[in-house]
Amino acid sequence: MAVVTETPEPPDATGPVRVAGPVRRRRPAAAPPTEGPLVDTYGRVHTDLRISVTDRCNFRCVYCMPEEGVPFLPRADLLTFEEITRVVTVAHRLGVRSVRFTGGEPLVRRDLAELVAMVADVGFDDVALTTNGTGLAALAPRLAAAGLRRVNVSCDSLRPERYARIRRRGDLATVLAAMDAAEAAGLEPLKVNVVAIAGVNDDEIEDFGAFARRTGREVRFIEFMPLDAPGSWRRDQVVPASDVLARLDARWPLKVVADSGDPAPAERYRFRDGGGTIGVVASVTRPFCGTCNRLRLTADGAVRNCLFSDAERSLRDLMRSGAGDDELETALRRAVWDKLPGHGINDPGFLRPVRSMSMIGG
Ligand code: SAM
Ligand code: SF4
Repeated sequence: MAVVTETPEPPDATGPVRVAGPVRRRRPAAAPPTEGPLVDTYGRVHTDLRISVTDRCNFRCVYCMPEEGVPFLPRADLLTFEEITRVVTVAHRLGVRSVRFTGGEPLVRRDLAELVAMVADVGFDDVALTTNGTGLAALAPRLAAAGLRRVNVSCDSLRPERYARIRRRGDLATVLAAMDAAEAAGLEPLKVNVVAIAGVNDDEIEDFGAFARRTGREVRFIEFMPLDAPGSWRRDQVVPASDVLARLDARWPLKVVADSGDPAPAERYRFRDGGGTIGVVASVTRPFCGTCNRLRLTADGAVRNCLFSDAERSLRDLMRSGAGDDELETALRRAVWDKLPGHGINDPGFLRPVRSMSMIGG
């Protein structure tokens, strides 16, 4: 088949990174460097920051949040816009070049466009947002004017009833209209995130392929990860990226996009007939930890070096106790330096992180 790829090779600064096997083993680590970019002990340079602006959400997607009884952070625990801007300014000085707003649902944070403007002013190469799409149609022009470049809109089914069943709230027509509005506002290229779950929506892979071809939007099939708050994830619910690619390739031959300019996480493919692009995010079956360049800021101001790592440092507590930017820099450097070589999902002793996806920021 035309589309098989290998797990990406890691950077070679300190020897190869193993992305399978006992990845929780830690190297003996000296102190992180005090200058240069944000680098870990495996030579991975971190240039991408995910900013969660809230843990709240107006949806309750089956793969993410329970239907009832979700505890949310008290508002006073959230970083203020000024605090977020301060952290990203330090991160920019340390070489971070792209940021993405996420959550929870970022659009439920009041006055988000103001924050986008403050962060965009710092001078990042890319300023993006991931959203479930509700409220986006109205907000898109303001977000674009504030400096947002592009959006990923999550949409796991093209069938209205199924969409409602998976996401529990909201409706398909609204999210499709939001995609149109976002593009009309210049938020392009627009990508569509699909969490593929066996027995739930995996019969729509070809429908999403046709959607990508018809609309020109890049559809990204994300493997279901053990980050759902209800803790009901099972390995047999994961639709391997290789299956997605094989099915699409059988219908419309694919070719790999050699230089996507995107170190992680999506592997991108073009339809050979020029009909558009799709991506797969194979976090479970083909982990891309070896090339991960990403760090995360939670809504309550903790820096995390991996979705799956519970090791957090509270930059909020540092800032609120009067720390200077040099202390924020040290905390960011330490957080990156401590990163493990892989997320460990496939280790026998894997333990889910304490915080789930919406609490960390996806
Ligand atoms: N609320 C926004 C949304 O749904 O797009 C942004 C936050 S959401 C946590 C970010 C992305 O993570 C979405 O594309 C969502 O589908 C995906 N996601 C959530 N839970 C997941 C899980 N358990 N496994 C894989 N992807 C997941
Ligand atoms: Fe909300 Fe996004 Fe999680 Fe769905 S995936 S519950 S929209 S945070």
